[in-house]
Amino acid sequence: MKSDNNLMKSAHAAPRCTATSKRTGERCKGPAVKGWSVCRFHGARGGHGPGRANPAYKHGMRSREWIEMRKQINDLARMEKEIENLISE
Ligand SMILES: [Zn+2]
Repeated sequence: MKSDNNLMKSAHAAPRCTATSKRTGERCKGPAVKGWSVCRFHGARGGHGPGRANPAYKHGMRSREWIEMRKQINDLARMEKEIENLISE
């Protein structure tokens, strides 16, 4: 049973769940799911994905990319106004 021993060693070395128990106030200490900061009991792999696959997705105008693009356009408009002010002074 030497290989089982090695498997458990790597399992214990896995990153730990960051959730805190409401009842005891202590950390969960369970192994976190790969790519998540929490274990499978504390919300890992749950919920919907982002973007078009999300059921709340309507037209995409409020998606992350569009919001970022609007921000950049607003920044450009603001810079343009500042330049105009500098020229007219
Ligand atoms: Zn947990």
